[in-house]
Amino acid sequence: MLKFIAVEQHQPDKRPASQRKLDFAEIYRRFSLDRAQEQASRCSQCGVPFCSVNCPLQNYIPDWLKLTAEDRLEEAYNLSSSTNSFPEICGRICPQDRLCEGNCVIEADFHSVTIGAVESFITDTAFEKGWVQPIVPIIEKKQSIGIIGSGPCGMAAAGILRQKGYQVHIYDRYDRAGGLLTYGIPTFKLEKETIARRQEWLEKSGIIFHFGISISDQDSKHTLSFANLRKLHDAIFLATGVYKKKDVTVPGTNLNGVIQALDYLVASNKAIQSGNSSPDPMFNAKDKDIIVVGGGDTAMDCLRTAIRQGAKSVKCLYRRDKYNMPGSMREVKNAEEEGVEFIWQAAPEAFIGTEKVNSILAIRTELGLPDASGRQTVKLLSDSLFTLPADMVIKAFGFDPEPLPQLWNEPSLKLSPSGTIKIDKKTFSTSLDGVYAGGDIVRGASLVVWAIRDGREAAHQIDRYLSQKEKHSVEEKNTKEKVV
Ligand SMILES: Cc1cc2nc3c(=O)[nH]c(=O)nc-3n(C[C@H](O)[C@H](O)[C@H](O)COP(=O)(O)OP(=O)(O)OC[C@H]3O[C@@H](n4cnc5c(N)ncnc54)[C@H](O)[C@@H]3O)c2cc1C
Repeated sequence: MLKFIAVEQHQPDKRPASQRKLDFAEIYRRFSLDRAQEQASRCSQCGVPFCSVNCPLQNYIPDWLKLTAEDRLEEAYNLSSSTNSFPEICGRICPQDRLCEGNCVIEADFHSVTIGAVESFITDTAFEKGWVQPIVPIIEKKQSIGIIGSGPCGMAAAGILRQKGYQVHIYDRYDRAGGLLTYGIPTFKLEKETIARRQEWLEKSGIIFHFGISISDQDSKHTLSFANLRKLHDAIFLATGVYKKKDVTVPGTNLNGVIQALDYLVASNKAIQSGNSSPDPMFNAKDKDIIVVGGGDTAMDCLRTAIRQGAKSVKCLYRRDKYNMPGSMREVKNAEEEGVEFIWQAAPEAFIGTEKVNSILAIRTELGLPDASGRQTVKLLSDSLFTLPADMVIKAFGFDPEPLPQLWNEPSLKLSPSGTIKIDKKTFSTSLDGVYAGGDIVRGASLVVWAIRDGREAAHQIDRYLSQKEKHSVEEKNTKEKVV
């Protein structure tokens, strides 16, 4: 260990931009065993590991780096998977520059340890070597849990609950597991085999998936009412994510060719998964001038998808500057390398066209003092209008929660002021008895690593609730028998 003085940082090799623009495969190559061990050996094993402290899962990072460096990979895998349900996914798509790697104490002068790449290397190797085995609970319990949503939060909760012996059912309106991992995040960041492999692992562990079922206010061929779902299970876990798209109120927002980011990404992911890389023409950027409005990770994913679809030009319009962007700097760099042009400090004033959009009218902005969130406020500059040609405009303004109490006819399900599900932060319980919630539907649009953490922690709370319920029913039975 401590080799950071002599050994330089090496991130996994990136495929050249000219090559990766032509396909949707992941852009990073995997570490070889030698490279993973060499990079893990750079860890300084510091007394207070800030990487771990700043990881939402508090992963034992220095410990599994040491085990990797010492060629004790199976132990590294066991330790890594003891705190994280899907380390190979976090290793690929966590914003490490803001979390573990950004807080590595050797970061300042020597560049951080490449934690994410070693993390996915360990679990990918574990799958190849057959160390990832289906969950076999010590005892089987009769009680069952219905989980709504098979995203990272729902899947993480399912794994823990199954370990504890419960009968676990996951309901999802989509046709496969993963939520945004499968249908939002593009394959060049996360290939879908990685998620399918986890779905298979959960199925082999005895978890039952009910795909193509939307939880709603009534029963039909493809819907199940929330009220009836509650009757089927001893506890319910809501992990439905956030899908209501935010919009702007500028003229022309409903013109043809002005589309929503998630609709665009879902269409692209579905086309790729069906073996056809060209989606519906409405969502195909080929030979078009594309403008993506927004500066988060969703915007970066749209920009880089448009590049791969063969767009004529791809521009990002963002009202703040590069340093105030909410998205990961690593993704901005990848986008720049692939040919995206960034237009900083500019906001849309109108989308122009008769039936179909043909340009954007934009206005320059000036940045003021930071607001409560720490980001600089935006002021529009008068007399600074300009136009940009656009055949397709993609709006990437983020997401709000859908109004579940209304959609499910369950007014007693309480919401927070921002419209997310209100929970007791210690117990993850909602206002309804036996109903728990976690992930984006509680936090608002967030990160995969937080969704995994919520799923794991909520599962422990559901276990406590069901164990107490079981204990009470046994005590009641015993009392009745004594009376008789
Ligand atoms: C384009 C994009 C890119 C992103 N990139 C990153 C990234 O690089 N790194 C990162 O850490 N995070 C990223 N995120 C955020 C991350 O994907 C989410 O924070 C995470 O997926 C939330 O997990 P979840 O399980 O709470 O919800 P989701 O992943 O949204 O899963 C919710 C599931 O619930 C199902 N569902 C919803 N309502 C119902 C219903 N009524 N009935 C049945 N099923 C239902 C949905 O079909 C879905 O499968 C990105 C998000 C987007 C949109």
